[in-house]
Amino acid sequence: MEIEEMLENLFKRMEEVPDYEKFFQCIQCGVCGGSCPYSTGTVFTPRRMVLAIRAGIVNEVIESFSHWLCSSCFTCSLRCPSRVPITDAVIPALRELSLLQGNPPEELASALISIARYGNPFKKSPRKRDDWTKEVEFEVPLMAKKKSAEVMFLTGCYGAYHSRCRKITKSLAKIMHMIGTDFAILGNEERCIGDLARLNGEFGLFEELAEKNIRTFSKYSFSKIVTHDAHAYNALIREYTKFGFGKEVLHHTQFLHKNLERLKEMFNSLDYTVTYHDSCYVGRRNGIYEEPREVIRSIPKLKFVEMKRNRENALCCGGGSGIWLDSVIKERVKYRPAESRVKEAFSVGADILVTACPLDVPMFEDALKVTDLEGKLEIMDISELVLNAIEG
Ligand code: SF4
Ligand code: SF4
Repeated sequence: MEIEEMLENLFKRMEEVPDYEKFFQCIQCGVCGGSCPYSTGTVFTPRRMVLAIRAGIVNEVIESFSHWLCSSCFTCSLRCPSRVPITDAVIPALRELSLLQGNPPEELASALISIARYGNPFKKSPRKRDDWTKEVEFEVPLMAKKKSAEVMFLTGCYGAYHSRCRKITKSLAKIMHMIGTDFAILGNEERCIGDLARLNGEFGLFEELAEKNIRTFSKYSFSKIVTHDAHAYNALIREYTKFGFGKEVLHHTQFLHKNLERLKEMFNSLDYTVTYHDSCYVGRRNGIYEEPREVIRSIPKLKFVEMKRNRENALCCGGGSGIWLDSVIKERVKYRPAESRVKEAFSVGADILVTACPLDVPMFEDALKVTDLEGKLEIMDISELVLNAIEG
């Protein structure tokens, strides 16, 4: 592809993002690079990416692989004094160019092909999406049978297929069952919501998924969607609205908070010290900070401690759009954010690091193995902690 064509494609894509024009207001301050967890391994920090695009040397950025060293943590975008939409516009547009040129990282290509073919990144049959329901001792209703429910519970791909994340899904379903929520799942009709495909520059696939999912949603009657998948939550409230979707969506931290009075009646004491990790697309991107803290603090006897990097300053787990770029990142960056984060949680005296996004849990559990913290610190989703408090 000639450079003129590359720049034309790049700007056309960036123009679709709200506040795109702020790209031209970059003052080259470098705050973005200083905020990025991968800045030590990258040739082009966000500041240098902007400069390179302005200078028309996009090819050099793409060849350097710098645009793949990003987990879409949103720190640079939030801290940028000019509000340049780096995470939503600049990096996905550069990634799209790489995809168009036919040289995406292998792991990512495989995940995207699997999503297009099977509706999930794990090369699993859509028919297996609700297999987790066979592992609980109560009936999980299907929308296809029930037709109507107050809450449509969306599990997301990790929540449905990943063995560790399925435990989170089962915990949340059990809580809904115990507090009498009128809920149902889509089961094998659910497909990947697509936020990570979008952030990785696969916009065509994202649109297909959004249209297909919205068609499925429209078959049933429900008041709201509840999901524990932070990226599904983000895409539903920020991106699906562009395709006509307008239902209420609650992240599970908000759902638990809304049901807190009922939950409090069921809580037993827990004699732990816990800290809370603000997942990027719960906290920094979507401003949900207090609800999970209030839920945690209302568990009797539980001691809650904050880590120094909390709320909008929380460190990314390294998952996000980087979840399928592990080998690219490993090759180029020695520093692993998840390892630093579990050490930080341990240093404040926590027995449990509580999270609120399914991607966090496997990222942090892997980090425990290499930091010698296995057996010293436990990783739990907030729904698992709440269920522990209910079950005593
Ligand atoms: S923080 Fe914003 S204004 Fe500063 S260099 Fe980065 S993109 Fe430009
Ligand atoms: S979104 Fe996060 S990982 Fe990506 S460039 Fe910005 S600070 Fe770095």
